[in-house]
Amino acid sequence: MEHHDEDTHAKEEGGFLVFENGKITIRISETCCKSCGICIEFCPTKVLEPRDDGFPVVVAISKCNDCKLCELRCPDFAITVEKVAD
Ligand code: SF4
Ligand code: SF4
Repeated sequence: MEHHDEDTHAKEEGGFLVFENGKITIRISETCCKSCGICIEFCPTKVLEPRDDGFPVVVAISKCNDCKLCELRCPDFAITVEKVAD
């Protein structure tokens, strides 16, 4: 996680890892995610990277364009992206 945006805030909330910067909120379910890496592969702007155990974490939230490809491609409905402000 070396390239963390300075404006990214990560927290744990009800079984989710939640990343937010006031514009975008990305939630990844610690129980549903199978660490398959599909979301990482499909993200066009490289917002996500695998942790040592393969679990996806947000490393560049400012690059997220709310395309929702990660959300749509996840086979386990484990990741959601929500635009909270422009
Ligand atoms: S919404 Fe799009 S840009 Fe944002 S993390 Fe998902 S795939 Fe990447
Ligand atoms: S696509 Fe879904 S299950 Fe696979 S690593 Fe991403 S969030 Fe986890």
